[in-house]
Amino acid sequence: MDAAVRLHIAAAPADLATLATVLRGTLMTPDDPAFTAASQIWNEAHRATPMAIVRVANAGDVATTIEFARLNNIDIAVRSGGHSMAGHGSGDGSLVIDLRDLRGLHIDPAQRLAWAGAGLTAGEVTSAAAAHGLAVPFGDTGSVGLGGITLGGGIGWLVRKHGLTIDALLSVEIVTPDGDVLTASADENEDLFWAVRGGGGNFGVVTRFCYRLHPVDEVLGGALVLPLTAQVLRGIVPIAAEASDELSIIAMIMEAPPVPFVPADRHGEMSIMLTFVWAGDPDAGRDAIAPFRALAEPLGELVTPMPYPAIYEFTAEAGTPQASTIRSLFMPSLDEAAVEAVVDALTAGPAGSMVQLRVLGGAMARVPVDATAFAQRDAKVMLSIMNGIGDPLTAADAIAWNRRLFARLAPRASGVYANFLEDEGEARIRSAYPAGAFERLAAVKRRYDPTNVLHRNQNIRPAAVRRVERETGFEPAASTLGRSRSAN
Ligand code: FAD
Repeated sequence: MDAAVRLHIAAAPADLATLATVLRGTLMTPDDPAFTAASQIWNEAHRATPMAIVRVANAGDVATTIEFARLNNIDIAVRSGGHSMAGHGSGDGSLVIDLRDLRGLHIDPAQRLAWAGAGLTAGEVTSAAAAHGLAVPFGDTGSVGLGGITLGGGIGWLVRKHGLTIDALLSVEIVTPDGDVLTASADENEDLFWAVRGGGGNFGVVTRFCYRLHPVDEVLGGALVLPLTAQVLRGIVPIAAEASDELSIIAMIMEAPPVPFVPADRHGEMSIMLTFVWAGDPDAGRDAIAPFRALAEPLGELVTPMPYPAIYEFTAEAGTPQASTIRSLFMPSLDEAAVEAVVDALTAGPAGSMVQLRVLGGAMARVPVDATAFAQRDAKVMLSIMNGIGDPLTAADAIAWNRRLFARLAPRASGVYANFLEDEGEARIRSAYPAGAFERLAAVKRRYDPTNVLHRNQNIRPAAVRRVERETGFEPAASTLGRSRSAN
């Protein structure tokens, strides 16, 4: 960071007005009429009032804001698309580094490369790349920010064909907690590049991503709505797992939605909405989904060739802000006990309950386990239990239902995806990083953020903190994990 700027903000530590004068971007405080809208995050269950929001204009603003927060011992929250399930993109009393104005996007179709600012959403990059018949494998919802999805891994509609989002990541521009602006790639700061591919926002604030683009033009996609029975549910995972990599499915076990392709008298019936993308020849795709249709007569279906970005229309509503709770797990299979638990729970669940099932494998599984911090390469199934909890009269029951089903399934878990965690304690974070990845991340954290400046995330505390705890026998409670900033 510029030495003059450092002197300036150091001279008047707690003064936000001073900070505002040295930024290229804008600083918003709660007295700004636009502040409430700017502090909106996706998960309203974690609604918060930050001290201020800095809408950064460049990497220099990020460095300045981090320095200001460090000098004043203020918590930092980092926000890209605001879709953190744990609400980490905001926080009471925190200084939000809001990246949404970093919207630069350059696509080089000949080289099949995209350079994208960290304020863009998955949907925006997908639409722009689709104009060239190209795509990055992001997630299932267009409004999710590039920042969170990429740094956590990124599991979506192309996961079996083209892998995770991080498997398409070639480099990042990242501002470290020390204010250095670095490039991390396979050839530069390799430890950092390994860590940001799955380790979340623990190591710095990424301002720009460079992705390799895959050829993805028209796809066969849509939804088959099947009745919820044990026999149908049992059949889904084996069919999806045996299909070729062109097929990636997301099955949502939920009340049949009031969409035109489901007859009105079946709306609200508990069902399995099997959504999918087949990234290949449409006729072969129709053959690939025929076995699902053979499981039971669908309540309704909409299956059609479409431009790849159109699949986001099926999930657009999920991207609107809502109060929500989630528990998620990877599983080696959906065994008989799990089928029974899910069917039991969903047939007697509170309104709006949902279980989401993703069948993995394919390209994601072909990357060596130690190539990226995301180390769940052999996960076969991801199951997520989701409840809306916006109604105070029913929220407690919905949370209790969610946790009861989770408790039944947890013994079958083979880990969890960090991007689908709420604040669930260090054991759960640890289970996101098997095969030595957690320890390796803690070592990288110690190198780049030894005092845990960036802790409003699925926090990997620096290795030194961990050693002190082992030696003293002290293990902090989950609620205090983020505050262990005195590592040295
Ligand atoms: P934010 O709240 O802005 O960021 C989340 C956290 O990530 C931040 O607090 C910070 O710690 C870190 N972070 C974000 N940007 C940066 C950055 N540039 N530099 C450093 N740290 C940063 N995930 C999937 O993999 N596949 C899916 O299909 C999928 N679908 C989803 C659908 C919905 C409706 C929602 C709400 C989430 C979904 N997710 C999915 C999970 C999603 O990937 C995570 O919630 C992700 O963290 C959201 O990213 P964001 O940038 O929008 O969130």
